[in-house]
Amino acid sequence: LFLNHFFFYFKPKITITIDGWSSCGKSTLAKQLAKVLGYVYIDSGAMYRAITLYFLRNHIDWTDEKEVTEALNNISIEFHYNDVSQQSEIYLNGENVEYVIRDLVIAEKVSDVAAIESVRSFAVAQQQKLGMYKGIVMDGRDIGTTVFPDAELKIFMTADTAVRVERRFKELYAKNPNITIEEVKNNLEMRDYIDSNRKISPLRKAEDAIEIDNTNLSMEEQLRKAIDLAEKKLKRLA
Ligand code: C5P
Repeated sequence: LFLNHFFFYFKPKITITIDGWSSCGKSTLAKQLAKVLGYVYIDSGAMYRAITLYFLRNHIDWTDEKEVTEALNNISIEFHYNDVSQQSEIYLNGENVEYVIRDLVIAEKVSDVAAIESVRSFAVAQQQKLGMYKGIVMDGRDIGTTVFPDAELKIFMTADTAVRVERRFKELYAKNPNITIEEVKNNLEMRDYIDSNRKISPLRKAEDAIEIDNTNLSMEEQLRKAIDLAEKKLKRLA
């Protein structure tokens, strides 16, 4: 028993990054992988969404650099594990905003907000702090390229647009039956365009990232692939 504990605590831990297009199932995979490995899961997109929520609520003109800097000074973001939902949830200035930030109203503005330099340095600094001790799975757009360029395992996810739209539509429709498939499709395409064309840390596959196309994969199959990749990396370190 002692030895088991010893290996549990001293087993080398790695950093795992999962980047890719909008609605590829990154967070689903990241959450499951973190659970299997006993790692922390961090949703970096939730940070940009929470900042966007703050800007919208407080009528911040984000084309004004000074206003943005001031607003960022008043934002505190934390993640806390929720025993009921069994996942870490995001808090904006002490308020749980995990669910409100998933609204399409936020999705429509988040890519513009995430393209702002001071917003990115604010978020990236916190992401790097959260990953300081490794043992983390973080998903986003620039995690393997900018946030953790030295991560041991980098995954880049893709899936056919039609499949991605369908998945996201089902998710949003469950909460809001007024939503149309066109709205969802337009939003995904717009975000992918802005995210991959912005000046700072655009979405792209890191040179050493391994691509997983999950168009025809079940959740179990994609998880199996990711576990295999992580185990290979961990074996090399052991
Ligand atoms: O992952 P999610 O779809 O929730 O991310 C919302 C938005 O946040 C993305 O469309 C992108 O504009 C931004 N984002 C980013 N960099 C990250 C994660 C998300 O720019 N690492």
